[in-house]
Amino acid sequence: MLSHPALSPSSSETSAGSVSEPGSGTDISVDVAVIGGGVVGHAIAWEAALSGRSVVLIDDAPGTGASWAAAGMLAPVSELHYQEEDLLELMLEASALWPAFAAGLAPSIDSRANKDSDEAEAAGSGTGYVTTPTLVIGADAADRRALEDLRLVQGTNGLTVEPLTVREARSIEPLLSPAVAGAYRIAADHQVDPRRLLARIAEALVDPRRSGATCQMLPARAAGLRWDGDRVAGVVLDNGRAIHAGETVLANGLGAEKLDGLPPGLDLPLRPVYGDIIRLRVPAHLQPLLTSTVRGMVHGVPVYIVPRDDGTVVIGATQREAAVEAGAAEAAVSAGGIYQLLRDAQVLLPAVAELELLECTARGRPGTPDNAPLLGRVRGLRDDADVLGLIVATGFFRHGILLAPAAASICVQLMDGRSDPRWTVFEPGRFSSGFSAGHVRRHSDPATAGTSPQ
Ligand SMILES: Cc1cc2nc3c(=O)[nH]c(=O)nc-3n(C[C@H](O)[C@H](O)[C@H](O)COP(=O)(O)OP(=O)(O)OC[C@H]3O[C@@H](n4cnc5c(N)ncnc54)[C@H](O)[C@@H]3O)c2cc1C
Repeated sequence: MLSHPALSPSSSETSAGSVSEPGSGTDISVDVAVIGGGVVGHAIAWEAALSGRSVVLIDDAPGTGASWAAAGMLAPVSELHYQEEDLLELMLEASALWPAFAAGLAPSIDSRANKDSDEAEAAGSGTGYVTTPTLVIGADAADRRALEDLRLVQGTNGLTVEPLTVREARSIEPLLSPAVAGAYRIAADHQVDPRRLLARIAEALVDPRRSGATCQMLPARAAGLRWDGDRVAGVVLDNGRAIHAGETVLANGLGAEKLDGLPPGLDLPLRPVYGDIIRLRVPAHLQPLLTSTVRGMVHGVPVYIVPRDDGTVVIGATQREAAVEAGAAEAAVSAGGIYQLLRDAQVLLPAVAELELLECTARGRPGTPDNAPLLGRVRGLRDDADVLGLIVATGFFRHGILLAPAAASICVQLMDGRSDPRWTVFEPGRFSSGFSAGHVRRHSDPATAGTSPQ
């Protein structure tokens, strides 16, 4: 299993720059405090450190939230959903950022100076980022029709989905069932391994050889925000210790709404949408089981099979909203969910029955009422002014792995005093009573459709 530097005993020894030592009991002063060490918090900390800022990443259990469960599909095309057109723009932006983001994490290279080889460097980045395509498969005639309807909507939105015959699909993936009804190829939907990504960013963050990167991983729990007059000035930990920070980023997924000292009137309506997911090992005689990610519709129910280069596959994911424990990120695995995933995966790929079961995991995706993230500065509550010193980055629901590079880039732009009008629709105050949306830019075209949950 991959380990996380913040959980290892030597983590405090590797911190650098102007931050003070963890465990010393003294207050910490940094440019940026990031609360939450999932993929989103790690990516923001990394981008902030690269910008030359001193950073502390605060999490008592980094990488164990939704990011631990995620399949890691980077799928703006097959993830197009009805009435989520604003999200499509953000997903496409994130997808375009992925090659350089992954390349920037490759050990011992400064990829930013060498943009032409981003793809090659990204492949060797130690994150499991690969640009192999996605095949979308319909199990029966009704599934094929639903996928064809969706392809029309994807085309309307400028997305490329190539129809294949079943024979063509089986020439790409010979272990696909000959009984499937329809197939499509999406070249733009890729994947990363979220666990390797987390470990790689964590290593890079505390690597003193990385130019500009000055980050301390602090294995601690944030209790709330510190205020200095009308601006947020850092974090109070649950042991009472203070972190002084010029910018504080709330990137703690489902935990964001539970922090003390949120700006008055700010409502962050997060809810856990639980998903079960399975990891399996492919025996030697079946390798490679797949070379592409396979997403299927099986009698109206979505399922996906994501091959990893370590000889394992990930099969996911169910979607259920039953409250296990109000707001909990971790949930019990559902027996019915696992049965459904294995049953449907075998319809597409009968050899799934021969795989070795390694792990069943369930986590809560941080959902919001419009399925879009809460991302940006808090504004529009009392007046149009920003709450200074605070950036919110949560609610990434089904897309947090895909969106992480975009979230990081948007957060650092805000720290630099820049804001892109395309992303005002994601302002975190938009569900608060009294929110004035006068400055918010909205997408006008409602014609989008939906596929499967991640
Ligand atoms: C089964 C499943 C499959 C998925 N598949 C995909 C996929 O293929 N592609 C994709 O893009 N997305 C996928 N997702 C969604 C993705 O996992 C999430 O959107 C993403 O992980 C959210 O990341 P995060 O960093 O915001 O939150 P999390 O990963 O949940 O991290 C939040 C962190 O905050 C910490 N924390 C909480 N409270 C505090 C506090 N008070 N102080 C300090 N730390 C705190 C927690 O310990 C945790 O480490 C999937 C999700 C699930 C459940």
